[in-house]
Amino acid sequence: MILSREREPLAFEDRLLSQDLWIDRVSLMALWNEPVRLFRLANLLREERCGEDVSFVVNRNVNFTNLCVGSCRFCAFRRSDGYLLSEEEILDRVAAAEMFSATEICIQGGLAPGLVLEDYCRILESVKENYPRMHLHAYSPMEVFYMSKNSGITPADSIRELKRAGLGSMPGTAAEILVDRVRKEICPSKLTTSEWRDVITTAHGLGVLTTSTMLYGHLESLEDRISHLLLLREIQAETGGFTEFVLLPFMSGNNDLGPWSQRMGHLENLKMHALARVALHPLIANIQASWVKLGRDLAGRTTLWGVNDLGGTLMEENISRTAGSVETECMTPGQFRDLIERNGRVPVQRTTLYGRMR
Ligand code: SF4
Repeated sequence: MILSREREPLAFEDRLLSQDLWIDRVSLMALWNEPVRLFRLANLLREERCGEDVSFVVNRNVNFTNLCVGSCRFCAFRRSDGYLLSEEEILDRVAAAEMFSATEICIQGGLAPGLVLEDYCRILESVKENYPRMHLHAYSPMEVFYMSKNSGITPADSIRELKRAGLGSMPGTAAEILVDRVRKEICPSKLTTSEWRDVITTAHGLGVLTTSTMLYGHLESLEDRISHLLLLREIQAETGGFTEFVLLPFMSGNNDLGPWSQRMGHLENLKMHALARVALHPLIANIQASWVKLGRDLAGRTTLWGVNDLGGTLMEENISRTAGSVETECMTPGQFRDLIERNGRVPVQRTTLYGRMR
């Protein structure tokens, strides 16, 4: 059932809709316990901001290495005897993406020992040289932090060089939960909240847009999730550099954190997506659900309650699969269109930066 505006919104909802109010922490906590009101409000705000369109991007992941010096307890991807793709192997993957009419290559990997800025730039340059029209969405704030440290330079200098090498935008991953108490538990060797913020705002200041993300459903509390959302909203108010917010439900397979994590059911996942829409309104317009983590059917249902984007075709997916995802590695544009239409929305193929594809 889609609740429409035929019902009179309450004054509180009216003020949110007119963008005269940003919701506060206490109201977000209260909404969590009033799911009907939460869903209704999320849907109204989605409609207000995005209309009936639900978008997707034709892209390919290239996880160029699973070697990593990190120690994230939620990770099932890292391997001590893992791989590091050669330039040729990377280009083979990009060639397959080109055949698939992809417009974006998303490049991320583990923190392989000894990698420096030049190594990261070389990957971008070789892809850009061979496929100049491909948008390169690459390197998390943690990777930027790592390459900068290994190269003895600042993140700002790294980002300038990456841009010169062909970087188009950056994934706002490695955010996990931006509360240091939780980070110490789940990813003790990762950059801190203020270091993450610093890399992200530096990128925005240099004209590199990023996504924003949240890994939820492990050890964090609802309050921690709300702190995370409010911090992202604050950054967006300052820089305007986030293109979207992506919810990443924790996958509990094959990792150290799995046995200790909370188990979130379908209702809680739907509520979390709805809460993100409300918390980030009106500053972050695009709220994305991950079909590979939620499963495509549930991801489709989120579009009824606040979500307006279903991410990318991916073509290759290693992070969630190693942690227990039973989804396929690729969703075709036709499958996206079917899923979106089945949920009563209008499918739109987009670019990485939310331009409409003709
Ligand atoms: S999540 Fe990334 S940084 Fe952390 S251990 Fe896994 S590969 Fe390394």
